[in-house]
Amino acid sequence: MKYVSTRDAGRTALPFCDILLEGLAPDGGLYLPESYPQVDAATLASWRELLGAEGYPALAAAVLGLYIDDIGADDLRGICERAYTAEKFSSDGIVGLTDLGDGVLLGHLSNGPTAAFKDMAMQLLGELFEYELERRDQTLTILGATSGDTGSAAEYAMLGKDRVRVFMLTPAGRMSPFQQAQMFSIDDPAIVNIALDGVFDDCQDLVKEVNADLAFKAEHAIGAVNSINWARLVAQVVYYVALYLHATTADDQRVTFAVPSGNFGNICAGHIAREMGIPIDTLVLATNENDVLAEFFDTGVYRVRGTAETHETSSPSMDISKASNFERFIFDLLGRDADQTRRLFGEEVPTTGSFVLTDTPEFAGLRERFGFVAGSSTHADRVATIAAEAGRHGYVVDPHTADGLKVARELLERESLTQPVIVLETALPVKFSATIVEALGHDVPRPDRFAGIEDLPRRVLALPNDADALKRLIATH
Ligand SMILES: *Cc1c(COP(=O)(O)O)cnc(C)c1O
Repeated sequence: MKYVSTRDAGRTALPFCDILLEGLAPDGGLYLPESYPQVDAATLASWRELLGAEGYPALAAAVLGLYIDDIGADDLRGICERAYTAEKFSSDGIVGLTDLGDGVLLGHLSNGPTAAFKDMAMQLLGELFEYELERRDQTLTILGATSGDTGSAAEYAMLGKDRVRVFMLTPAGRMSPFQQAQMFSIDDPAIVNIALDGVFDDCQDLVKEVNADLAFKAEHAIGAVNSINWARLVAQVVYYVALYLHATTADDQRVTFAVPSGNFGNICAGHIAREMGIPIDTLVLATNENDVLAEFFDTGVYRVRGTAETHETSSPSMDISKASNFERFIFDLLGRDADQTRRLFGEEVPTTGSFVLTDTPEFAGLRERFGFVAGSSTHADRVATIAAEAGRHGYVVDPHTADGLKVARELLERESLTQPVIVLETALPVKFSATIVEALGHDVPRPDRFAGIEDLPRRVLALPNDADALKRLIATH
């Protein structure tokens, strides 16, 4: 299996391990496999047996094996077994389902070290990095910016990985106390938390500025773990397969997935699973007030927002102004036309901030061909959903998952979605107490593993908003 860039009409093909440590392709595009491996009924039946007999890591190795042929099967199995342990994910099953009634199932993806679904991909990435860096005898410096979930998931994944250092910028004083405690309690000299005197955008700008210094970047082997990394996406394909198998008993049964979306990473993995032939009828995309993506699926207009137009909401991990993985879907929608994809994302979006596919045959046939529908939700919807769901079955969902549930139940009422609808749980409520208290009048009990984390010593360096200061820190640490 080789990988191509969404903007390269010449289709330069690279092996998995060459794109593993890279973010964007050199032409600014995103990597995708040359074609999606096809899963027939016999393969699906064998995966059902494998999952039942040997568990999630074995299934992961089988699915990933279709995409990764430059790591031997035994090594890949070892990587998956180290990434997905019962100790890290709180159960042998790694993922699971809860029946919420009326055709809706909750797909649990958030029982990893940082209580958000990003652990599912990051833990695999950490093992893959360690494996490949060892093989190449290289080291890597991960420089990132986070407003919450991504940074902590990355740090917990790189913990104890000898060849990786992490420098993570956070906006000083702006993350929730729980999120701060999660990151700042990490005690590992290779993981450096930085509280920047600025907002999240300043953090991102500083990362860009340091990366623009190509000599410095090369000297310190600076890399990233952002959501456009192909390995993160393919790790996510595995849980669509696992949840499908858990939710069904026969391999011709069809399901719907509903996905709280921000950067289009999670649901892009659902799209890929569907393209592989996993029997998924509909992919329900849910946004919060930042409805760039819902707008596209409703109207065919993709219009990115500026910072001023990006709302700060109570489902903050979905507060995006442009969806960094969306180019992958558009490439597929346009029949993998790299020239047109480059025109849209490399020229139209940077100059006009938008593109319009409304009157194209591709957009007209989108739902039929790719199964997407979309909806959005508001703060009031989240609060009402958290309260209503708790009243219905006693299960408390986090605000992001509430966005997904709200849109899923609304569409279930309005049109005939294939049941079950599997709503993906993208975080645990413990991370977002304020909204939970607003909805229920009280907080949720905290899982034992997070007891008292706010009282642990905090390890964080204060830094001015200055690229040279950051470079000095990286060079001398
Ligand atoms: C990152 C995140 C999302 C959005 O996922 P995308 O892959 O960016 O679409 C949703 N919910 C939570 C809790 C997250 O951390």
